[in-house]
Amino acid sequence: MLDVPMSATAGIIRHCEELFLDLTFGSARAWKDAEPGRKVIGYMPYYVPREIIHAAGALPLGILGGGDQLEVIHGDAYYQSYICRIPRSTIELGVTGRLDFVDGMLFPSICDVIRNLSGMWQLMFPGMGSRYVDLPQNFDDDVGGVFYQGELNDIREWLAGITGRPITDEAIRASIAVFNESRRLVRELYALRADEPWNVPSSELYLLMRAGLTLPVEDHIALMREYLASVHEQQRPIKDNSRVVVSGAFCEQPPLNLIKSIELSGCYIVDDDFMLINRWEKSAIAIDGDPIANLAHAFLHDSNSTPPKYEPDLAKKGLYLVESVRRNRAEGVIFAMASFCDPALLDRPMLQDVLKQHGVPQIAFKYAENSGQMQPIREQAGTFSDSIKLWSGE
Ligand code: SF4
Repeated sequence: MLDVPMSATAGIIRHCEELFLDLTFGSARAWKDAEPGRKVIGYMPYYVPREIIHAAGALPLGILGGGDQLEVIHGDAYYQSYICRIPRSTIELGVTGRLDFVDGMLFPSICDVIRNLSGMWQLMFPGMGSRYVDLPQNFDDDVGGVFYQGELNDIREWLAGITGRPITDEAIRASIAVFNESRRLVRELYALRADEPWNVPSSELYLLMRAGLTLPVEDHIALMREYLASVHEQQRPIKDNSRVVVSGAFCEQPPLNLIKSIELSGCYIVDDDFMLINRWEKSAIAIDGDPIANLAHAFLHDSNSTPPKYEPDLAKKGLYLVESVRRNRAEGVIFAMASFCDPALLDRPMLQDVLKQHGVPQIAFKYAENSGQMQPIREQAGTFSDSIKLWSGE
């Protein structure tokens, strides 16, 4: 067999895949063990203020369920069968000791399931800090802004209680600057994928983004820079694929094979909402002044739209998808949603109406994080891609 040297890109992605597959979170455990007193704070989708966790000197660790590697045995006993899988597999991670090194868990207000999970977590793991993160659904500075600043300060106090030291404004400003750089690189990567999707396959970008939920942000920044530097070292063939936006996968994640199947079926994914937290704010958060006020302002006025986030103006409902289609020169939208995901499935008809009004082709299907049968997905996505090529042309 020929000994072909691995490209730099392949080496980076292999590292990311190892992190992705490691359900014992070995890298986070190693980070914690490297210095006495270090703390790890887990969080669920879709958004938490990671800057404050970082400013506390702790490691933010994204917990996105067990994927298709984990057999759920205990977790099924805690939830009815007609519910998404991520709470069950997260419980499984907890009861099997895979999260026993985590010092605190944050549960954002994405839906009733996660809210209930936060209460169950407190009962099941009383030794681990646990907190519900109430995100504003009113976007007036004087109402939602004041509320959210209070919530951010409460989180700050909660974290200080875990680390045993106060979190200064200066530390939060420094952390905002670090995450601004992280988000800038994520935006650059997304823009590069939209420009050259053959050079930045979505299955690779996905793994690179998942690494950002596990690694310290500084390490992830270095990894993204390395990936960007290595992308053009190899020439990858350009295919006659259709360009699609994937929408609806903002919480429970699809299996990696589903993303690969969409690509193999003849689609270039040019935008997605897999892990919005990596690029939640659309531009840099202000650093000068009150950092808590700056974080709240960015959430209210400069964050991405997604079904769990309320859109107060009905006339604007779903326009973010139309804008994404235009900005990324997409030819259609694939709604890929976790089975039983209320926020995604309840919003879908409204989003579909908006896309219809703007003449954007679309298909929809559901998945579970452990879906194994990809043939139907490949056939649907392949037929969609063909139909775009055949009938959507001018
Ligand atoms: S997949 Fe949907 S319903 Fe399930 S926890 Fe996430 S947001 Fe809630």
